[in-house]
Amino acid sequence: MARFIRFQHGDRTLYGKLSGDTVHVLSGDLFGKHQDSGETLSLADIRLLAPCTPSKVLCVGFNYRDHAEEFDTPIPELPNIFMKPVSAVTGPEAPVYFPKALAKQVDYEAELVAVIGRHARHVSPENALDYVLGYTIGNDVTARDMQDPTKQWTVCKGFDTFAPIGPWIETDIDPKAGLDISCWVNGERRQHSNTKNLIFDVPYLVSWLSQAITLKPGDIIFTGTPSGIGPVNPGDVMEIRIQGIGSLLNPVEAEP
Ligand code: MN
Repeated sequence: MARFIRFQHGDRTLYGKLSGDTVHVLSGDLFGKHQDSGETLSLADIRLLAPCTPSKVLCVGFNYRDHAEEFDTPIPELPNIFMKPVSAVTGPEAPVYFPKALAKQVDYEAELVAVIGRHARHVSPENALDYVLGYTIGNDVTARDMQDPTKQWTVCKGFDTFAPIGPWIETDIDPKAGLDISCWVNGERRQHSNTKNLIFDVPYLVSWLSQAITLKPGDIIFTGTPSGIGPVNPGDVMEIRIQGIGSLLNPVEAEP
């Protein structure tokens, strides 16, 4: 059971293991060779970063029944997969930039994110969770007004800062058992569901994706959003809460 973080302390970028407010600094890469360095820091003295640096960000569209219905899309028979560029990844409390070009409507999407821990290729659903290190929270920020006109979703979901993740990786939770998931804008709840309502669960997604694509340590899978999506504007604060993980907070700011 562990809560892993990636963080900045002075000019160092490090991985650590969090217990309460104490950071146990790891030497090396959480997704490669690492060990406990023996150094401890206080959570108050560090700045949390996105908890991993993925080689790819895989995402699932329409993976909650209620969200497919709000879009008037039939319940999918196979996962609807798209990718966000890794340049979209940002961390907890970091600003999400409202684009100054191309887009006029930006939406939040609360999502559970699975973090891959081991090289996965052709794994079975039964063994798939052996390849998942743990879970974090993600916001699949989307320029909604571009989604239909551009057909492909790479740009509307791929603007810089449109993939905030964090605040940490929690290893000891079970989405299948049902985790409350909600999105709050300026303290008002906009989305509320439970991970037991996922159409394709995490073992299915890891197994299915691994038949086609090698999943590498640190890669992430955004598992889809429930109903209640809606727009935000500069000055708004988005917060996504998932039971057993915590809260991912990001302010929306006009792109500088
Ligand atoms: Mn999504």
